[in-house]
Amino acid sequence: MKEGGMFMKYVVNDSCIGCGLCPSTCPEVFSMGDDGKACAIDTEVPEECLGTAEEAKDGCPVSAIEEA
Ligand code: SF4
Repeated sequence: MKEGGMFMKYVVNDSCIGCGLCPSTCPEVFSMGDDGKACAIDTEVPEECLGTAEEAKDGCPVSAIEEA
């Protein structure tokens, strides 16, 4: 069941240094692109991944992950 306000998407901005942390923390949402930078799925984060996705956002050393 979905609750209001729980819809969440992330984007990775240009300051990503390609450290690889976010895909290892939350592979359901983040992956490394061909350009060596991370990208996020462009669909809503599955509810069961909200915790690890948030952890990946908080753990990014250059704060390149933003809420979309
Ligand atoms: S944790 Fe941050 S810097 Fe590292 S790959 Fe992910 S977005 Fe890029």
